[in-house]
Amino acid sequence: MDTIIFDVDDTLYDQAASFKNTCKKMIDVSFTDEELNNFYIISRKYSDALFDDQVAGKLTVQEMHIRRIKDACTEIGIEMTEQQAIDFQEAYVAEQRQIALFDEVMELMDILIANNKQVAVLTNGAEGHQSMKIKQLRLDRWISKENMFISSGIGHAKPSKEAFEVLEHKLGLDKNRTVYIGDSFANDIVGAKQAGWHAVWMNHRKRDMPEGTVKPDKVVYSARELLDLFSDELLCNDAIVN
Ligand SMILES: [Mg+2]
Repeated sequence: MDTIIFDVDDTLYDQAASFKNTCKKMIDVSFTDEELNNFYIISRKYSDALFDDQVAGKLTVQEMHIRRIKDACTEIGIEMTEQQAIDFQEAYVAEQRQIALFDEVMELMDILIANNKQVAVLTNGAEGHQSMKIKQLRLDRWISKENMFISSGIGHAKPSKEAFEVLEHKLGLDKNRTVYIGDSFANDIVGAKQAGWHAVWMNHRKRDMPEGTVKPDKVVYSARELLDLFSDELLCNDAIVN
């Protein structure tokens, strides 16, 4: 592979950690670890669905933020007012100012750059918010500004083919030598495969693979396995496609 392109949220860092910390601070319920893990997965379901509605212009960003946590709470039997949802979002953003890359991702970035690979990110979301996270993660240690793509900035969101095509044109990609890595099967794996790229599913939440024709080239279950996969790839150059 010549070009390695990453999703950001919950691929490069543990997004659940900031969500869980926010829940502990803002929701007056004592959750078990298992309940919090489950609540995180539920919240992502609403987040992804409402993001599509927001991109389609059916909701404002604030309405999306309110609805996604309120709806997730409703599903687990907790009532949340609109004001509480706004406060939750504010606290969540504050938590996101503390996010840090997985240790193995830092190591992976180092070896990719040392091996002269082209590295980029493609993330869905609002430009200001995603930029804040990219800055907090200090991705500019390895990735130039021109190689950071945010859906609201490029005018297309994953999984649409157009989002991936923007990068193909801007970075002059050879699809056969390009791999995308992400945690979301529906956005990252379906999107990358539809665009004709290779795809690695960072399935550290151990979700079930959806039925259907789309299959990732490789599945890894932790940042450690992701690092090991690319270490093999750099040694023999065919670990991802075989
Ligand atoms: Mg993600």
